[in-house]
Amino acid sequence: MSQVDDVKKRRQLEAARIKQRLSNMYEVNSEEIPEGEEVVAFVNVDQCIGCDQCLIVCDDDAIELYDAPLRNAQLHVEVNKKAKILRDPCTGCRLCVLACPTDAIVMIDR
Ligand code: SF4
Ligand code: SF4
Repeated sequence: MSQVDDVKKRRQLEAARIKQRLSNMYEVNSEEIPEGEEVVAFVNVDQCIGCDQCLIVCDDDAIELYDAPLRNAQLHVEVNKKAKILRDPCTGCRLCVLACPTDAIVMIDR
């Protein structure tokens, strides 16, 4: 087996291991995340990287991305996106919480 093949195989194994760990984690934590009409999603903007994964899973059009200024003047990024929850259409389904890779979304009381 070549070095490239060896690295590819190791990466695949590592990706599978990480996916399994995340699945296990969500399985445990998902029951602890509040759900329903009494709660609404909330984005901690400091943790949001604007990846738009929450928009993809939200069936209720309750999330928007907006342009936010960068705090670090040394960095040059044309567009810095953040997610924002629209409270009225949010049904409290918590799918966005499970989808967010940075744990930026939490469910709070309405
Ligand atoms: S809790 Fe559900 S409805 Fe509300 S923003 Fe998240 S995915 Fe959309
Ligand atoms: S999934 Fe999380 S990090 Fe990505 S845009 Fe939504 S809130 Fe931000």
